[in-house]
Amino acid sequence: MLPVALFVFLIGAILRWRMDQDFIKEMGQALLDTKQKLEKDLKGLSRHDVRSKQGFDAEFPDYGDKEDENAAEVATFTDNLALEHTLEGTLEDVNAALSRIAKGTYGQCRYCGKEIDQRRLRARPESSSCVNCKKKKLGQA
Ligand SMILES: [Zn+2]
Repeated sequence: MLPVALFVFLIGAILRWRMDQDFIKEMGQALLDTKQKLEKDLKGLSRHDVRSKQGFDAEFPDYGDKEDENAAEVATFTDNLALEHTLEGTLEDVNAALSRIAKGTYGQCRYCGKEIDQRRLRARPESSSCVNCKKKKLGQA
């Protein structure tokens, strides 16, 4: 017969494992939703261009040929480009998180290997580092 302590430990481990699976499933769904939204936003912002290395090129708007109109075109183009880079950066993080789920390493800090707090993942499912490492990284920058 199993010692009671071991039995309790096993039940705890199974419950914890199940909880983790549910949590990861939930995060996976959130990541897929974010991915779809980002891709839609990027499509709205850019036209798909196979020649572009990044896959997306910001559309250069055509408002007219007067000088102030050209300035407005450049301003819109610059804004779109900045937004596009932000969206692409987030999309990369989301894709990386999805591949970590596939590899079974989701929720582990990429710097120290410890588990990332679930509240942090819930707030930002694509997080790849724990709060401590993130703080250290920001402190060094
Ligand atoms: Zn860490």
